[in-house]
Amino acid sequence: MTTKTVLVIGSLNMDLAVSVQKLPHQGETVFGSSFATFPGGKGANQAVAAGRLGAAVKMAGCVGRDGFGADLLEGLQASHVDRTCVEQVDQSTGTALITVDAAGANTIVVVGGANWACDAAAVDKALTAAGEPGILVLQNEIPQETVEYAIKAAKAQGWTVIFNPAPARTLSRDIMPLVDIIIPNETETAVLTGLPADSDEAVIKAARKLLDQGIGTVVITLGARGSLCCSGAEQYRIQPYPVKAVDTTAAGDAYVGAMATGLAEGRSLRDSLEFASAAAAVAVTRAGAQPSLPWRKEVDAFIR
Ligand code: ATP
Repeated sequence: MTTKTVLVIGSLNMDLAVSVQKLPHQGETVFGSSFATFPGGKGANQAVAAGRLGAAVKMAGCVGRDGFGADLLEGLQASHVDRTCVEQVDQSTGTALITVDAAGANTIVVVGGANWACDAAAVDKALTAAGEPGILVLQNEIPQETVEYAIKAAKAQGWTVIFNPAPARTLSRDIMPLVDIIIPNETETAVLTGLPADSDEAVIKAARKLLDQGIGTVVITLGARGSLCCSGAEQYRIQPYPVKAVDTTAAGDAYVGAMATGLAEGRSLRDSLEFASAAAAVAVTRAGAQPSLPWRKEVDAFIR
């Protein structure tokens, strides 16, 4: 099977997670009961999802010249992600400082760090290194001007552009029509459109508003309710797989990575979305972000 390259340009973070009985108040010191580090960042998660599913995937982005950066690079390689376009820069690797209390409430501080050094030059380098145009995947955890530059440059070279607008941030008006497929969740849909996305009818209305901005295809992920695709006049639901959810963290990343993999393999959009739904369903049955992302044989066995 000949497949296109999947190029993910985005964030790489180390998540630092602490468990506490009770979140500290301002000025208070509390003892934590456990500490663990997990590789993350939406860009890296989506690249790892695609790599484990068998895509020829290349990641572009920036990490620091520190231990976290080295660990993240190693993690990409272990999931078969080409990391040659991840640059090491003189800033700290992006981190997310997560504190979770006994009731599951949390506080999260994200320090973008090296992710903010991902610039137009990094985009040019990655597009050149990738060679033949394939599937470009972008999110919103690197500078907006880099995202917009990447969309313009890739589109001009014939790439298919997938944009996962997380966290929610709108693009310039002239850039939106260059996006082939936008994949927001319900919250991001509401922010991008200014419309509620709390019922099926509302989600369809919001999707149509995004289509009216010139985007080719809108796929809205609806958590346990599956997803909705609107492409031109066509509109259909992708039903979720019934699974016992353990942890839905990174469900969206599994979905985006799998969809890009399906498209790179030459599958139809609808088939790619069905595949994405299966990969995301497997991911929600397991704990964690990257640790939950399934390998190809696990998804194939799940679908069978
Ligand atoms: P995250 O930010 O945690 O990565 P998200 O909000 O971007 O997630 P969701 O809409 O929650 O993404 O989920 C993405 C897809 O994962 C859904 O469209 C669905 O196919 C699948 N999914 C999510 N939750 C469940 C569930 N409980 N059961 C089955 N499938 C699920």
